[in-house]
Amino acid sequence: MYDLIIIGGGPAGAAAGVYAARKQIKTALIANYFGGQSIESNEIQNWVGTIAISGMDLAKNFKEHVKFYAGDFVEIKEREEVSNIEHIRNDGFLVKTNKGEYKTKTILVATGSMRKKLDIPGAKEYENKGITYCASCDGPFFKDKDVVVVGGGNAGFETALQLLAYCKSVTLLSRAEFKADPVTVEKVLSNPKMKAITNASLIKIKGDPFDKLKTGTFVKSLVYEKTKPFVNSFEIKADGIFVEIGHTPATSFVEGLVEMDEFKRIKINHKNQKSSLEGIWAAGDCTDVLYHQNNIAAGDAVKALEDIYLELQRIE
Ligand SMILES: Cc1cc2nc3c(=O)[nH]c(=O)nc-3n(C[C@H](O)[C@H](O)[C@H](O)COP(=O)(O)OP(=O)(O)OC[C@H]3O[C@@H](n4cnc5c(N)ncnc54)[C@H](O)[C@@H]3O)c2cc1C
Repeated sequence: MYDLIIIGGGPAGAAAGVYAARKQIKTALIANYFGGQSIESNEIQNWVGTIAISGMDLAKNFKEHVKFYAGDFVEIKEREEVSNIEHIRNDGFLVKTNKGEYKTKTILVATGSMRKKLDIPGAKEYENKGITYCASCDGPFFKDKDVVVVGGGNAGFETALQLLAYCKSVTLLSRAEFKADPVTVEKVLSNPKMKAITNASLIKIKGDPFDKLKTGTFVKSLVYEKTKPFVNSFEIKADGIFVEIGHTPATSFVEGLVEMDEFKRIKINHKNQKSSLEGIWAAGDCTDVLYHQNNIAAGDAVKALEDIYLELQRIE
C-alpha cells in the first residue's frame, strides 16, 4: 500500500515527486514519460531560474531531479499508463495501469492534456500523411515546402516561427481573431514568407494518394471558408498541415469518480487542490485553472503536496 500515487511526469508531476521525496512519503510516480507538453518546445524562456532551455532538456532535468531525491521513498514507474482507478470504501484506491495494479491511500492526478485533432473530411485519412501535430518533430521534413498552420493561439504562432526557418512559405489559418500574444504575432508576421488569415473555417483536406512515392506526403491542399467580411471559399496549396487547435484534458480514467467541468477538467478547491472525492487531489492543466503554464502547474502541485502531507499525518 502506497501513501501516495502521483500520476504524471510533467512540471506538476515532477514537482510533486520532488516534494514527496523530501517529505518522505511512500510514493509511486507513474508517468507515460517525463517532460509533459512543452517537451516539443525548442526553447522555453519563462521557467523561473533558467534563462532558456529546450523542452527535451527540461524533461531530462525533471527526471534527474526526482531521481536524485527519490531515495527509498519515491518509486518511479516510467512508460506506464494509468487506465482506471477504483475507490475502495474506507481503504483508499486501486490504481490500474497497463503493467499492474497498485493500492494507495491518496492520489495526485497531474496528467495534463492531449492535443485536439482536426475533425473535417480528410483529417483522419491524411494524418501522418502530411497532417502533423508536432512542428519540432516533423518540421524538417517540410524543408522548402509550402505549409499551413491551423490555429491562431500562441502554439500556432510558435509553430509558424519554427517552420519559417526551413519552409518556403507558411500560411496560418485562425478560426477567429488571433489569440496569441501581440509581441509573438508581430514577430512572426514580419517575416516575408509568412501569411496569416483570420476568420477562416476549415472545410476539407484534399490529397493525392498516388503521389506518395514522389513527394513523401499525401496532402495537397486545404479548402477553407472565409466568414468575414462575407462568406467565400478558397483552396490553398499545402504540402504539410500543422495543427495547433488546443488540448483535451487527459482525465478519462477518473470520469465518474471526481467532478469535472464541461471541458472534462477536474474541478478543484483552488486553496488546496482537493477534488470532489476525498483522497484525490489534482494539479496542472488537467484541472479547471484559468492559466496553463509550467510554473503554475508546478506551483499547484506543490500546494497539493503540502495538503496531502497534512492529510496523511491526520489519517495515520
Ligand atoms: C508546444 C508547447 C509549448 C509550450 N511552451 C510553454 C512555455 O514556453 N512556457 C510555459 O510556461 N508553458 C508552456 N506550455 C504550456 C505547458 O507546457 C503546460 O502548461 C504544462 O506542461 C502543464 O503541465 P502538467 O504537468 O499539468 O501537464 P503535462 O505537461 O501535460 O504533463 C502530463 C504528464 O502526464 C502523463 N500522463 C498523461 N496521462 C497519463 C496516464 N493515463 N498515465 C500515466 N501518465 C500520464 C504524461 O506522460 C505527462 O508526463 C507549452 C505547451 C505546448 C504544447
